Amino acid sequence: MSKDSKELKDVSRRDFLKSTAGIAAATGVALGGLGLISKDADAKDAIPKKWDETYDVVVIGSGFAGLAGAIEARKAGANVVIIEKMPVHGGNSVINGGDFSAAGTKMQKDAGVQDSPELMLKDMLKAGLYLNNPELAKIVAYGSKDALEWCQTYIGARFARLNFHGGHSVKRAHQTINASGSELVNKMLSKAKELGVKVQLRTKLERFILNKDNRVIGVEVRKNYNFPNENSGKKAYIKASKAVILTSGGFSRDVNLRKVHDPRLDERFESTNHAGATGEAIMAACMARAMDVHMDWIQLGPWTSPDEKGFGYVPLFCERLVGYGPMIDPKTGKRFFKETGNRKERADAIILIGHPVIIMGDSYAVNKQVFPEALKKGLESGSIKKFDTLDDLAKAYNIPVAAFKEEIARWNSFVEKKKDTDFDCMIFPEAKPTATPPFYAARLWPKVHHTMGGLVINKDTQVIGFDFKPVSGLYAAGEVTGGIHGAVRLGGVAMADCIIFGRIAGQNAAKEKAWV
Ligand code: ADP
Repeated sequence: MSKDSKELKDVSRRDFLKSTAGIAAATGVALGGLGLISKDADAKDAIPKKWDETYDVVVIGSGFAGLAGAIEARKAGANVVIIEKMPVHGGNSVINGGDFSAAGTKMQKDAGVQDSPELMLKDMLKAGLYLNNPELAKIVAYGSKDALEWCQTYIGARFARLNFHGGHSVKRAHQTINASGSELVNKMLSKAKELGVKVQLRTKLERFILNKDNRVIGVEVRKNYNFPNENSGKKAYIKASKAVILTSGGFSRDVNLRKVHDPRLDERFESTNHAGATGEAIMAACMARAMDVHMDWIQLGPWTSPDEKGFGYVPLFCERLVGYGPMIDPKTGKRFFKETGNRKERADAIILIGHPVIIMGDSYAVNKQVFPEALKKGLESGSIKKFDTLDDLAKAYNIPVAAFKEEIARWNSFVEKKKDTDFDCMIFPEAKPTATPPFYAARLWPKVHHTMGGLVINKDTQVIGFDFKPVSGLYAAGEVTGGIHGAVRLGGVAMADCIIFGRIAGQNAAKEKAWV
């Protein structure tokens, strides 16, 4: 071995030990339990003698990023399969709030909102504490308008209104007509199938298969997998003649992996994510020499409620009300933070208080802003409550009435002046004082929502290895990747990120030279 290649090997080993898979291997976190290492240890690096199926491009995961990748690869002439471990398609994408952040769009112009990709990039970098890979963040901001138009015109998804999310300078979240990612996911799935993409549910990626040149040539999967039973189903080998695209989402539901990177985020914290948002595919990629980044930047949604499971309806209530109604600490009856602050700032402020807070609005704000179906469902389930008077509201949450009413009067004076001298909340031009009964309120306590960390990719979505070179044959897009959002992902930017990089991954994977 030359000195150079020995050094490279040593560097690779050092970097591997710093990585997710390295930490796990060195500290004995049970990779086998995560389904990462083949039960037959001797066979863990083996190339199968016989492949069960062959495709040009194998896509792992059926959310926004995977579907975008599959559609583009297929359009470029590749034979494509999507494998999805869950019994249903769509991952987090199908259950999200359907907000797509994009800058300089027609909907914004029609609504008189002045925006630009430069401003969106500025907002993303500021919220990301400048840890974002600027080249990748720029691709998202500058590509967001085209990506939205692709969803509207090519996929046929309908977007009905513009929303604001904390940390953005302007309203730039374009919400789907049903306030859910399902509007886009279901239409993308139909398009993919119409183009001839094969979709296999209950098929779980367990291991990437590499040849002697460390090129990814296929995947070991478990078919008829029954989440979360790791012994269910049957092993099979799928050959990827051109490339594998990893679009397996984040790891918000993976308490073990979360705790390795941020020990505070133990079982006490619920998650908004679908049950399959676990990190075994990221770890499998790390075992195949991929590098990971920012794994400890894990985002909590400040708009979730302890009074409902998962994502629920309160986020759609809370996020529409910020800039129109106040957030109150029930113990003091006072506001405590800028309602339009970014997700991290607000979640940290609530955790510091140490108990659930409330978000509230009057009937003008709620009827104007909140999606009627979300309001109805929240009221039915009891996570959102309705009160005839401020006194009734204060009583229901044990809020000291006098202090609370004084605070509402103060908030209303800020709304009238359109200037909050206490916390600098952005108050929207159409906002009115919180004064018209009935009043609505919901309790807030953060839940784990998004994992900013993940695999390192370049602008072509090639996964980067510990030698700083692309892992040949492996592409990635969406939440499984890291570095794009830095410390904080702003609301609605995940949809742009997934569509933009998913499409790039599909186009490039289809262009790969087949290895056989
Ligand atoms: P994104 O928003 O990045 O597209 P989603 O969460 O919407 O991510 O979709 C990712 C999909 O990948 C989910 O449906 C999830 O069940 C699937 N997935 C995660 N891990 C695996 C795996 N090991 N094998 C197959 N599918 C996986």
